[in-house]
Amino acid sequence: MTYCIGDCKKYRVTKPTHIGRYAAGQKRCNYCEVFVDYEGILCPCCNRHLRCLPRSKKDKEKYREQVVRKRTKIN
Ligand SMILES: [Zn+2]
Ligand SMILES: [Zn+2]
Repeated sequence: MTYCIGDCKKYRVTKPTHIGRYAAGQKRCNYCEVFVDYEGILCPCCNRHLRCLPRSKKDKEKYREQVVRKRTKIN
């Protein structure tokens, strides 16, 4: 039931240049080993949970900083 059927390739995205992947709204599927631009919480390909936050503490801090900066820009 949960296996990579190749659908993740349709949602696959490249690394943003000035912002972290997670801060840009990209999510990671550990099973398919791809970053996808997808609204849902489950991988559109293998149906597993997508990771939407960085793993390491350092990356989390960077993420928070970038998200705050993004919000202040909008307002
Ligand atoms: Zn896949
Ligand atoms: Zn997947």
